[in-house]
Amino acid sequence: MPENLAEMEDLEAFRLRARAWLAESMPLLDGRTNHQIMADDEECVQARALQRILFDGGFAGLCFPREYGGQGLSREHQSVFNQESSPYEMPVVFNVPTFAIMAATLLDFGTEEQKKRHIPAMLSGEEMWVQFLSEPSGGSDLAGLVTRATKDGDVYILNGSKIWSSGAFRSDYALCLARTDGQATKHRGLTCFILKIHQPGIEVQRIMMVNGWNEFCQEFFDDVAIPEENIVGALNDGWTVASRLLYHERDAVGGGSKFISGSSGHRGAQGAGRGDLVDLAHATGSTQDPAVRQLIGEARALDLVGNQLIARTTKGIMAGALPETAGSIPRLFMATNTERHHDIALEIAGSHAGAWAEGDPSGGVGNEFLMRQGGSLGGGSNEMQRNIISERVLGMPREFAADKDMPFDEVRHNASPSRPS
Ligand SMILES: Cc1cc2nc3c(=O)[nH]c(=O)nc-3n(C[C@H](O)[C@H](O)[C@H](O)COP(=O)(O)OP(=O)(O)OC[C@H]3O[C@@H](n4cnc5c(N)ncnc54)[C@H](O)[C@@H]3O)c2cc1C
Repeated sequence: MPENLAEMEDLEAFRLRARAWLAESMPLLDGRTNHQIMADDEECVQARALQRILFDGGFAGLCFPREYGGQGLSREHQSVFNQESSPYEMPVVFNVPTFAIMAATLLDFGTEEQKKRHIPAMLSGEEMWVQFLSEPSGGSDLAGLVTRATKDGDVYILNGSKIWSSGAFRSDYALCLARTDGQATKHRGLTCFILKIHQPGIEVQRIMMVNGWNEFCQEFFDDVAIPEENIVGALNDGWTVASRLLYHERDAVGGGSKFISGSSGHRGAQGAGRGDLVDLAHATGSTQDPAVRQLIGEARALDLVGNQLIARTTKGIMAGALPETAGSIPRLFMATNTERHHDIALEIAGSHAGAWAEGDPSGGVGNEFLMRQGGSLGGGSNEMQRNIISERVLGMPREFAADKDMPFDEVRHNASPSRPS
């Protein structure tokens, strides 16, 4: 926003300014959808270029502070911009995790130097980030991770492996949680590091999934040197940083984050799974089928409930009436709602979901169904969200953990995995 405008621009004036700029600067979608999951490297190059255009135009990072390259505007400005930008191609791949999770966590815990170095680079499309949390030995028990970072002079030497990292192959940096003190209890000996991904000692392997996507990666670390100044938060206090990161993730996945810019149009990753059930009914000639109409009505009602739940929970957290952990409530709802939408789409598509001719608009529903569980795992499984709601929203007793007070090195755990040949 130009410096001479008022500190916080009037919403209507902002809407008109954004509308005019978008029409001049961004390509129209023309029936395509914005992809959170990139089909190929070319799309990723295009997303970086579009993010740069937003940055140069003063429309990147609307809710990020100005000193870190953002616009210092409000959640309402972001929501107006999201409405106005819906007909345009937007680099939504940057939203999660780069902006809404990684930049948000850096804002909370990064040093001034880390924030100044990385947040403007994210907002200008130069740096894409990913989270290195989950490990092959298990993701839910995050504090039980076995990747080690051992101090050696003024660097830490990283060894181990991370997995299920979304888009790591095309990302530039990660926030990586590693064990720095095996003598401390499992939550106390962890540290969060900024990690440059493409460097000697790090091997990134893409994982081919059953639906043909190869977005997930596994990384192997062999004596990777991390400078001490890359520690985020305090040494051995990585659990505090990771807990905050997971809060931002629940907020982003649950729909409450103010750092999400633009929308994918459809809520499914690539089209027919969710937002266009009516189109699907038209394509399958079932608009007069009473059962299909019921299903579409149910899906619509669930979406409206979801939107209200997000708004209410976000307001409650902002007003202090609900704890931040209440973000698990919409996160859980959105995950079960996604499952239900995939079931409904599959039911409407019928046999078209199993086999379809090229160009059949209902084709692909079956393929998307294979990702049905994704939202119920990413950012912590539904079961973990239910645990959080019962323990940290409702104040019920904590789940028993035999290893909670033991030095981690004395806890029996899975071995670090060996690399597949
Ligand atoms: C779409 C998607 C994107 C992801 N992106 C990333 C990423 O970018 N970076 C990253 O680090 N990870 C990522 N993940 C991994 C994700 O965080 C893990 O899959 C998740 O934390 C669960 O860990 P796990 O798969 O090892 O399952 P496990 O931890 O092995 O759990 C297996 C099952 O046991 C249940 N369970 C475990 N413990 C408990 C308990 N205490 N109480 C009740 N039930 C329990 C779980 O709910 C689950 O059903 C992603 C996953 C998905 C699906």
